[in-house]
Amino acid sequence: MKIKNPATNKVFAELEECNLQELDNQLVVLRKGQKKWSQLTVENRLDCILKFGDLIQQNKEELAAIMTSETGKPLQQSLNEITGAQNRVDHLKANAEKWLADEILVDFGPTHEKIVYEPLGVIANISAWNFPYNVGYNVFLYALVAGNAVLYKPSEYASLTGKQFEKYLYQAGIPKDVFICVIGDGTLGQQLLELDFDGYFFTGSYATGQKIAKTVAPKLVPLQLELGGKDPLFVTEDVPDVQLAAVNAAEGAFYNNGQSCCAVERIYVSEIIYEAFVDALVKEVNSYVQGDPTNLKTFLGPLTRESQLAVLENQVSDALEKGAVLKTGGKVVDCDGYYFQPTVLVDCNHDMKVMKEESFGPIIGIQKVKSDAEAIALMQDTEYGLTAAIFTANENRAMQVLQQMNTGTVYWNCCDRVSPNIPWSGRNNSGLGSTLSSQGIRAFVQPKSYHLRA
Ligand code: NDP
Repeated sequence: MKIKNPATNKVFAELEECNLQELDNQLVVLRKGQKKWSQLTVENRLDCILKFGDLIQQNKEELAAIMTSETGKPLQQSLNEITGAQNRVDHLKANAEKWLADEILVDFGPTHEKIVYEPLGVIANISAWNFPYNVGYNVFLYALVAGNAVLYKPSEYASLTGKQFEKYLYQAGIPKDVFICVIGDGTLGQQLLELDFDGYFFTGSYATGQKIAKTVAPKLVPLQLELGGKDPLFVTEDVPDVQLAAVNAAEGAFYNNGQSCCAVERIYVSEIIYEAFVDALVKEVNSYVQGDPTNLKTFLGPLTRESQLAVLENQVSDALEKGAVLKTGGKVVDCDGYYFQPTVLVDCNHDMKVMKEESFGPIIGIQKVKSDAEAIALMQDTEYGLTAAIFTANENRAMQVLQQMNTGTVYWNCCDRVSPNIPWSGRNNSGLGSTLSSQGIRAFVQPKSYHLRA
């Protein structure tokens, strides 16, 4: 596999791809390894995960440079992601033993009842490129601690990073027959679905997630899907500081070039502050430094995938044809890398693709609203259900709106964030199942109920 740098469109590395025969063998190897691994205590397994976390933090400069070279993520944001992902390790350290312990429910009289949490077995983890540390850790660390073996297929756009995970997991003491990283593109991913894993954990687009669900369904094994979003933000007229609201909204929309599953993808603004909010947001967006992702001052690098440039161009032209006004940006940058100008479209409506289809790029559509009821109806006019946010000074008002959102996560006066303490889950086209929190670890175990009579 040839690895290209999205900032230059030049191949800078090559990796050997895995073939189907090798995949078959790897599953056999992992099955044997998992049996031994599951017999260790949670504490023993956790020790390896803690060492892995330390190794990643000790080598973060080099690892951030690798991630930046293959995904185009600005170096500062690569460093932020690696530093931030450690919170998953810390959270497992504090909670894994408690969550995986046997639960004694009845311990008096002749019958005793308890639940034992057993690992699923060997799981397949097909992952995305946009936050490889965050979305990778959410699955393979939790799975390993729970006693599973993992076959990890990184996205072809984050393959070098996937190989680094493997290297440092082995250095941390995870046996080579318990975690294997396979290199390949979507075709390999498809082949992997033909094999009999004990669970499939996928992060990626709705289109691929749906294909995977159809293929895996007859196997009747756990399937978890963390998919895309079209996440709305509602800015009310009572925000104490319109400029600050605009700065925060812009960061939610443009961080990592908008290539985040929970990026703000559409904004509804009360008509009373509409003009002021738009002016402040455009000013903020125009202040972003776009360019070489290895420069620590760069906020916007290239997109990871060249093909997304055409998607964004199409959303802009569609919106303009239907009456939107372009406030800034709107074009592919004329250079070798995959750069798109940060783009703000205003006076948008729901006939436009930019308000309905996932953009996954540095582009935001803004629509004026007259009331909370109108905002709620528009926010809910989507096939996705990942997150929804509101900026308002009034907590009751926020709760009124957020309770009506059919999404896995809601935000009041914040957006575009994930915490290991609480579940991460999508509804409708945004996915199935939860990662993180106690629920995220229970996703990798199956309960066995014991009825015991002494
Ligand atoms: P894709 O769906 O294109 O790819 C995801 C993974 O699936 C990759 O490893 C890909 O391999 C693989 N794949 C592609 N085709 C198949 C197939 N037919 N069978 C099996 N595997 C296949 O998504 P992206 O990588 O483009 O990721 C972006 C998407 O992920 C966005 O929609 C984003 O919102 C979502 N996402 C959701 C998150 C969440 O937590 N809800 C978090 C992060 C991203 P390859 O790349 O090698 O072709």
